Amino acid sequence: MVDQIGPAWDWEPESLWPQVEALLAGVQDPVQYVGGEVNSQVKPWRRADGGPMVRWVLAFPDAYSVALPNQGVQVLYEVINQRPDALAERAYAPWPDMERAMRREKVSWFTVETHRPANRFDVIGLSLSTELGYTNLLNCLDLAGLALRAADRAEQDPLVIVGGHCAFNPEPLADFIDGAVLGDGEEVVGALTDGIGRWKAEGRPGGRPGLISRLARADLIYAPGLYRVAYDPATRQIARLAPTDPAVPARPAKKTVLDLDHWPYPKAPLVPFAEIVHERVSVEIFRGCLRGCRFCQAGMITRPVRERSAEAVKQMARRALDATGYGEVGLLSLSSADHSQIAAMARSMADEYEGSQTGLSLPSTRVDAFNVELAKELARGGRRPGLTFAPEGGSERIRQVINKQVTEDDLIATVRTAFGQGWRSVKLYFMCGLPTEQTEDVTQIADLARRVILTGRQVTGSKDIACTISIGPFVPKPHTSFQWAGQCPPDVVDARLAALRQAVAALGKLGRAITIRSAPGRPAMLEGLLSRGDRRVGRVIERAFRSGARFDGWREFLDMDLWEAAAAAELEPLGLSLDWYTTRQRDFDEVLPWDHLDAGLDREWLWDDWAASISGQGVADCRWSSCYDCGVCTTLGAEIQLAAP
Ligand code: SF4
Repeated sequence: MVDQIGPAWDWEPESLWPQVEALLAGVQDPVQYVGGEVNSQVKPWRRADGGPMVRWVLAFPDAYSVALPNQGVQVLYEVINQRPDALAERAYAPWPDMERAMRREKVSWFTVETHRPANRFDVIGLSLSTELGYTNLLNCLDLAGLALRAADRAEQDPLVIVGGHCAFNPEPLADFIDGAVLGDGEEVVGALTDGIGRWKAEGRPGGRPGLISRLARADLIYAPGLYRVAYDPATRQIARLAPTDPAVPARPAKKTVLDLDHWPYPKAPLVPFAEIVHERVSVEIFRGCLRGCRFCQAGMITRPVRERSAEAVKQMARRALDATGYGEVGLLSLSSADHSQIAAMARSMADEYEGSQTGLSLPSTRVDAFNVELAKELARGGRRPGLTFAPEGGSERIRQVINKQVTEDDLIATVRTAFGQGWRSVKLYFMCGLPTEQTEDVTQIADLARRVILTGRQVTGSKDIACTISIGPFVPKPHTSFQWAGQCPPDVVDARLAALRQAVAALGKLGRAITIRSAPGRPAMLEGLLSRGDRRVGRVIERAFRSGARFDGWREFLDMDLWEAAAAAELEPLGLSLDWYTTRQRDFDEVLPWDHLDAGLDREWLWDDWAASISGQGVADCRWSSCYDCGVCTTLGAEIQLAAP
């Protein structure tokens, strides 16, 4: 121990660096475990004034290369570390070779800043952007020496709290976590730090359960352990899910930051020594999306739209470029071209960077000429980005069903503009297995791609035109209008994808200009199970983890045989199955595992929107038309916030 001041739970732990360092020669990319990234922060374990210090581990349970750039973690890292009474260090999922070495040498899961053991902090906050990281989460806890089940943890163990989009249905993780935070983290992380600090200062009244109950009563976390679920023995559906403590909210609510300009983070993004996925400064230009795509969970749970002002975006970009030395700024959001000031903002930033080595990028899949013009504006610096459009559905009919208000003529007009502006290839995103979909809805993608190629050839006079079709299975998600839908069985998805490949092959020579990138149906069943699962699915996750499942989002690691065996072993004795959770359509009266979590959306509005989708009725973007009362603004006492011109 470095020091042994105060009670044992507060002693400063030794760094595990000597043990970690000894493993590095035998693992891939050892630099990912070393820390010391530009802009990383190392704070003392104790406060100079002797007051309580709240210590966080912020973790993203995936490989360092994809986890480090995560904006959510980087924002909270700065927000916590700027406080004198708190510190935050980071931890990531060790790659399988490192995990083996750690288990062999009994090295505990550690933070990258100081290599302190993660189990000696007050809180482990895990950001979850995909359900396919759940076994990594269990692995990290296990490597930290923590009991997997929250109920079995010891008094001095850290709280395990999850956030991110998956926290909107944390029920499959209910047995493993102490709490979940729904929504934006910037403000609530401060309130949580205050609450934990006060509890420590008061001598930890009630111990660990006392703290969890305090935080849950204040609606800072949803603590699954304080809610009991009863199942209907006949239908096996949830009969009731209610708090056991009358003082905790029956419907914990999502947190929403209303003024993004007030939270201009990250100010100094982390720059790793190792190669990562995105080597650029990312500035989030707005949060939320109101296009109303019925499949899109991200759009639904982040309502309403809150834009950053153009001035705040420019300042954040300048400051982050200075702090990192990166040569590119990405303007990020769910649909970046939809920012109400995007044209003026992009032009003024492109002016500012003209003549420098700094590039500007704006990932956007909007199908219209404006998006192409914008891409051209951004390419002024020399680099011309690829153009990707997302019609999502192959036929006009299915696009009505999913509320993607794009016609085939819109798409052709857009690619005509793109080819006229010098692009020679485009990429189109689609989904397969959407509600009401028939094989023809998918094979029509071949016709669409054929028209794209012919349009390109006509506009350019060249045969050197290419179109890539990227298509993956649709997975219904909680808090969306499709939350009641039956997931399309994998054999049906695969048959439709095969029919699409045949339809493209039937185009003969022209078909060779079309590349299809598709993902098969079977792995999507796992995402379906974990997305809409209830507490009983936790047993499947634990069994899969104990059987060796890790990095399930990585094609080279996902073992569906293992998962299907785990599901059969755990679910069949309960009269349940993988199909029961995935391909089964739900009724309005069924209690869904996430119904008690308030994302602000009115359940009846979602149901009506689901019904409207079946009859092919659309709903407009409420930014530019009238409010249709989805419930969010009323529930949150908020309104759409557009940046001033
Ligand atoms: S409440 Fe109305 S204005 Fe607000 S997000 Fe919903 S539909 Fe749009």
